[in-house]
Amino acid sequence: ERTEFVDYFHQVIDRFDMNIPEHIKLQRDMPKGQFMVWLDKDKMTQVLDNIISNAIKYSPEGGKISLKVENKRHFLLVSVQDQGMGIAYDKLEKIFERFYRADRARTRKLGGTGLGLAIAKELVEAHHGKIWAKSQEGKGTTVLFMLPLMNHKRGNVK
Ligand code: ATP
Ligand code: MG
Repeated sequence: ERTEFVDYFHQVIDRFDMNIPEHIKLQRDMPKGQFMVWLDKDKMTQVLDNIISNAIKYSPEGGKISLKVENKRHFLLVSVQDQGMGIAYDKLEKIFERFYRADRARTRKLGGTGLGLAIAKELVEAHHGKIWAKSQEGKGTTVLFMLPLMNHKRGNVK
């Protein structure tokens, strides 16, 4: 359904904010204006839940998690950046494969099946979007995805 993304994203983050450990801070960076996208909300919520849960799960010492939306002409760019353990460069593409887990020893104790990002990729592509990741080992990870905009109403236009 036609949905204003920033408003919707705030709601998703609010739900996390109520349930996360004290040492993790969610920082929001949203553009002004209304950004209409076509969303299957249940599916998009599954995408965001996994990406944000990963950022929390793979940031064992906590730190800041930045949640950002940027307007890139005909697309919205959504990014979730953490200051966690990071992912080795040669493993970065594989994290979107089914059952792939970047470091068995480290991730075993953190739980999960390795399906989250494979499902997220499928669901983002079902929204005609793209998903990818950037990372530096020991410094942190950013997962990004693009969604096509339906149109963009500026400022106070309702
Ligand atoms: P599931 O999501 O099914 O519970 P999972 O979190 O292990 O399990 P994915 O979400 O698909 O699986 O992620 C795949 C792998 O990518 C993870 O096991 C982890 O090794 C790595 N990974 C994903 N997100 C991050 C992140 N933010 N920081 C570091 N590593 C990550
Ligand atoms: Mg996961």
